[in-house]
Amino acid sequence: MRRVALAVALSLLPLLPLAWQASDLGDVANLAGLAGAIVMWWQVLLGVRQLSHRLGDDRLASVSLHRWLGGCGAFLVLIHPLLETVVDRQGWAYVLVPDFTWAESAYASLGRLAFLMFLALWLTSTLARYLVTHRIWRYTHYLSYPLLALVFVHSWGLGGHLAGHPWLLAYWLGLAVVFAGVVLWRLSVSAWALPYRLVGVERLSPTVRAYTVEPLGRAIRPRPGQFCYLRTSLRSRAHPFSVVAGGNRLTFAVKDAGRFTERLRRLAPGALVHLDGPYGAFTREAQHGPRRPAVLIAGGIGVTPFVELVRRNDDLPLSLVHVVTSPKEAVFGEELRDRLGDGYREVVRPARPDIRVTPRARYFICGSPRFVETTTAGLRACGARRDQLYTERFDC
Ligand SMILES: Cc1cc2nc3c(=O)[nH]c(=O)nc-3n(C[C@H](O)[C@H](O)[C@H](O)COP(=O)(O)OP(=O)(O)OC[C@H]3O[C@@H](n4cnc5c(N)ncnc54)[C@H](O)[C@@H]3O)c2cc1C
Repeated sequence: MRRVALAVALSLLPLLPLAWQASDLGDVANLAGLAGAIVMWWQVLLGVRQLSHRLGDDRLASVSLHRWLGGCGAFLVLIHPLLETVVDRQGWAYVLVPDFTWAESAYASLGRLAFLMFLALWLTSTLARYLVTHRIWRYTHYLSYPLLALVFVHSWGLGGHLAGHPWLLAYWLGLAVVFAGVVLWRLSVSAWALPYRLVGVERLSPTVRAYTVEPLGRAIRPRPGQFCYLRTSLRSRAHPFSVVAGGNRLTFAVKDAGRFTERLRRLAPGALVHLDGPYGAFTREAQHGPRRPAVLIAGGIGVTPFVELVRRNDDLPLSLVHVVTSPKEAVFGEELRDRLGDGYREVVRPARPDIRVTPRARYFICGSPRFVETTTAGLRACGARRDQLYTERFDC
């Protein structure tokens, strides 16, 4: 992801000469708008998983970069209309109330609409993230596509720096063309998901089932710890699940959560599903980094990325702590205990895991966002360094 961060910085370079020449607040407002649009452009690109995965398979790094850029983009996008309001000596309503009576104000109003969309997107991703459901958060995120299209038309229609610099206009058109290509690709990509047939369903606990699928054509070859996106039809939403058994056939262990997992429960063997992937690099360091003890810490169904890792790496110094709400929910417990012996520990809530922190060990933590947060904070409080911690949160 360092390369992507560098590419983001390079993509802003064309604005540098304009920054030197900026002579008044209007120029600064204009520049903030252009820079904000470039950052948003990257945000959209990084938000398309099929694309960000090609830029680097470390999901955490790409999500972190996406969030960090979101903060920078928000700052630029927010100050652009505020400065314009000051420059034009207008009241605050100027930022929000559209006016389509004449050409210039119509182009400005496209920017206002984009700004309102941006506010909804920004609020549901930051301050109100935990007040809205995952579904609402996701649908609001789709606003980023029309939003960016409006931003391109707004900046092109109003001219500003673009009108005075043909090379900048060409650059802008280039960005717009790439954006249009990415949107078209994003819309068609679900059609490329690989068809699989459900060949087995097994109940692992009162709330978890294992689904085994077999390819009907080309097969996905995940590494231990990776996940795939699963959908029940080409039109349905794709949901991520870690692979608990890889090979030609793939198995996923799925815990009851909401609408999608309920739909999965209704599928009978023989049903057609679609997969894309594999994604992620969560446990890569445990297998390929220098040989150091790896402590795997799973909250409930968060054990899934560790199952294949343990199965396929008898020779690695692995231990696993599985935190569950009841012994029945300790899926794969028997097999993991057989393989890891004393290295496997089951902790039933409300008991808390007592994990010894040593300077050489690495800690891999997976589960719900709350579990990951509290476990990470606990390890940090016991002296674990940031570079010893690897996390995977079972949300977006
Ligand atoms: C990398 C990764 C690997 C995962 N592996 C597993 C696994 O092996 N087994 C398992 O049972 N669960 C796994 N999950 C979680 C699983 O994706 C969600 O439980 C599932 O999507 C819930 O969908 P739903 O409609 O049934 O429930 P909902 O009620 O819609 O969602 C319940 C919660 O699941 C999360 N979620 C919902 N949709 C998505 C989505 N499209 N992408 C990411 N998170 C979502 C949100 O936090 C949401 O609050 C994984 C999640 C991630 C991000």
